[in-house]
Amino acid sequence: MLLRTFARNPGLSRVLIATLCGLLIAANLLIWQALTNAEKQQAKSRLKLETHALALQLEARFESQASSLRRLANRWPYHHDDYQQWLLDVERLLDDVGNYQAIEWLDADYRMQWIEPLAGNEAVIGFEYPLDHPNYPFLERVRGSSEPELSDSFELQQGGPGLAYYVPVYREIDGQKRFDGFLLAVFRVEVLLEDLLRDLAEERLSLVFYDQRAELFNRQRPDALELDWAVESQVVLGGNSGFVLRSKPTRQLLQETTTRLPAMILGAGLLASFSLCLALWLAMLSGQRSQQLKQSNQSLQREVVRRQATEERMQQQSARLKLILDLTDHSHDALFIIGLDPQELIYMNRACWQTLGYDQKELASILAIAPEDVMPDYQAWADLLQQQVESQGNAIYQQNARHRNGDLIPMEISVSYLQRYGRDHLICVGRNNSVQLAVTHRLEALSNQDGLTGLFNRRYFDETLHSEWRRMRRGSEPLGLLMLDVDHFKPFNDQLGHQAGDEALQKLAVALRENLLREGDCACRYGGEEFAVILPGADLEQCERVAHHLHQAVQDLHISHPETEIKYLTISIGAASLIPDADNSPHDLVQIADRMLYQAKSSGRNRTCSADQAAS
Ligand code: GH3
Ligand code: MG
Ligand code: MG
Repeated sequence: MLLRTFARNPGLSRVLIATLCGLLIAANLLIWQALTNAEKQQAKSRLKLETHALALQLEARFESQASSLRRLANRWPYHHDDYQQWLLDVERLLDDVGNYQAIEWLDADYRMQWIEPLAGNEAVIGFEYPLDHPNYPFLERVRGSSEPELSDSFELQQGGPGLAYYVPVYREIDGQKRFDGFLLAVFRVEVLLEDLLRDLAEERLSLVFYDQRAELFNRQRPDALELDWAVESQVVLGGNSGFVLRSKPTRQLLQETTTRLPAMILGAGLLASFSLCLALWLAMLSGQRSQQLKQSNQSLQREVVRRQATEERMQQQSARLKLILDLTDHSHDALFIIGLDPQELIYMNRACWQTLGYDQKELASILAIAPEDVMPDYQAWADLLQQQVESQGNAIYQQNARHRNGDLIPMEISVSYLQRYGRDHLICVGRNNSVQLAVTHRLEALSNQDGLTGLFNRRYFDETLHSEWRRMRRGSEPLGLLMLDVDHFKPFNDQLGHQAGDEALQKLAVALRENLLREGDCACRYGGEEFAVILPGADLEQCERVAHHLHQAVQDLHISHPETEIKYLTISIGAASLIPDADNSPHDLVQIADRMLYQAKSSGRNRTCSADQAAS
């Protein structure tokens, strides 16, 4: 589940892992700080205990000395009159105390009565406490309270700071308590504290000892730590609670009270955190990789399926292509495909080579080397094909192909242009259309022929007259025309019958055809018993000459006519010739010839009338 989430959201996963890593580091640091603080507190407590113990030891040591002095004072009522005995006691006491500067006796007026030892204390012999002495109020208070007490620090008469432990001494006289003075021990601060602290376990502490007035003693250890905190303990010496012992730990003490545990826990915690994050990171990478693997597997599978489908399709298409080629091989039409640039014969079916009497290889090699051998006007056709490729259209060509035995086979070839895969192709389907051509020619001939006479009919006359008109106009040559009409044909029919009339017309047609000697001259049945002869290139004189021949030919037929003077069938001819130009037309030529025919009829028949162009 987690891996799937990692794999799907790599960006989110990175943020989550980084956040987790940050949180774990922060938690480790917090734990480390809490442990460090706890150890610091522990060190503080330890220091407090040690400082307090030191203070107690100080108090105990001082108390043992102070009690000696008090014991001496207690002996005063018994020795006040025995001075020698008193001195002995004092000397014994001095042995017990040992670190004093002086033991002094003050009388009730605070005057110095004696001092031990004298040496070093000469400055205070005969000293009397003035009222402005800093200890004066203190003396008054101690005297009133009857309780021995250590003074605050003050400047000794002998020089240097000192402390004095004042023990008030009383005697009972007559039931009355009388103040006799003070027995006091004067200490140099430094000497006293050095003595008190000697042999005490204070090596691991830096100590400052002070009272309300001043710092009395300061001992800094070389490995003292510069901390912003210190531990203080009140010290009560000789009933004076105004002393304070302030201590700071040394590095040694701190090392004893602290452990490597927080650092180890921090290290272990960070290591565990990094390991966890690393494991998660690796899990994320692994998830992503497996996701990628899965996706690539899926796409691979899709690709395999796609390729299988493509292969199947290709097999099907290949089978279909095979079938198509097989079928085209059985087609009677010749199918061949030409690829261009470079030109090559890509395909031809069986009908191609069978139609021409070759086998496949023979025909292919002939076409490659000398295509003119199988297609005589190949070069002209190739030019036409090139034009077709440029226009990218389709076309049908009538071409002759030469059979192996030398026969020419007319072929109708349908050519389609097709561009595929960046190459031009021509798809050609050809068939032997000799039969169709023959039929077409026959039909064409029939459609232009007159059924009775076998001459060209009126439709053909019209077409030919126009086409010859255009041809002659291009060459500025004359076009001659004869219009013929059988004379008195109606009575011929009436007398001899329609059948005889038809036969006469047929004979006339033969005579006309046989007497037209020039190629291009064309005799047509214009309608009924009227005929027209087109004479391309013939001027009027030539027309008249032809007309004359025709009169002679008809006369030579000797077709008897019972109703005419000469008893034979005759014809009348109207002749005309024009040089075609923009100002005249075929219609004009027919009209002139027709007019001349009319003129021939009206002027007696069996003759030719002709009119030159100017006359018309
Ligand atoms: P004309 O000398 O003035 O020409 O006198 P014509 O009798 O020939 O007069 P017209 O041209 O008017 O008469 C033509 C006749 O030709 C009428 C018709 O019977 C005949 N004719 C036209 N076509 C045929 C045909 O195909 N066969 C036969 N037998 N007779 C035809
Ligand atoms: Mg007529
Ligand atoms: Mg007639």
